[in-house]
Amino acid sequence: MPITVRVAPLWLAATNCWVVAAEPGGPTVIIDAPPDVPGIVELVRGSGATPAVLLLTHAHLDHIGGAGGVAAEYGIGASLHPGDGWLAEDLGAQVRMLMGFEYPGESYAGAERYQPLADGELLDVAGLRFRVLHTPGHTPGHCCFWLEEQGVLFSGDHLFAGSIGRTDLPGGDYGALMRSMAERVVPLPPETHVLPGHGPATTLARELASNPFLQALHS
Ligand SMILES: [Zn+2]
Ligand SMILES: [Zn+2]
Repeated sequence: MPITVRVAPLWLAATNCWVVAAEPGGPTVIIDAPPDVPGIVELVRGSGATPAVLLLTHAHLDHIGGAGGVAAEYGIGASLHPGDGWLAEDLGAQVRMLMGFEYPGESYAGAERYQPLADGELLDVAGLRFRVLHTPGHTPGHCCFWLEEQGVLFSGDHLFAGSIGRTDLPGGDYGALMRSMAERVVPLPPETHVLPGHGPATTLARELASNPFLQALHS
């Protein structure tokens, strides 16, 4: 079954917001909500479809700061792993840490509540079936979303083309990232398309062959 995928890099961090549908014009799943709700609305409008749910890979500001606005705009729920609840609770602290100051007039609003994601869980939404892969390391509650049938992995800030997510922010853990990479991501079919939270798409085969962090797992 083919799918349609649209993406826009949004906000200061050029965070990829993914909009996924089983068929053109059908219900969509939004993956990550950068703090640019008008940008997300524009992206969704281009898909001609109605969002059914918002899935969040993790609770860094650049992925979750628009969650409240998106949830309100479409009347949909947002899902997040409880391991990132502490990050989601205080977005103001992330704004201060990332920018060093308050950002008056700019709105960063998480959702009022989050549907908890669990490792291995199957999410049947919008005619698609996602497997939740809990991949801690970049943050404790980071998750990747795997469309097994379509061979697509939304990898958030876990795996990038040529790199991996940073682990020097609060809650980051390099050892945990490499472990969850080895256990959850490396065993996926090599032809899997990897659609990350920043930068261009890649494939698992390409990363296994050329990403120094994945090669470090084999040596
Ligand atoms: Zn992040
Ligand atoms: Zn990010």
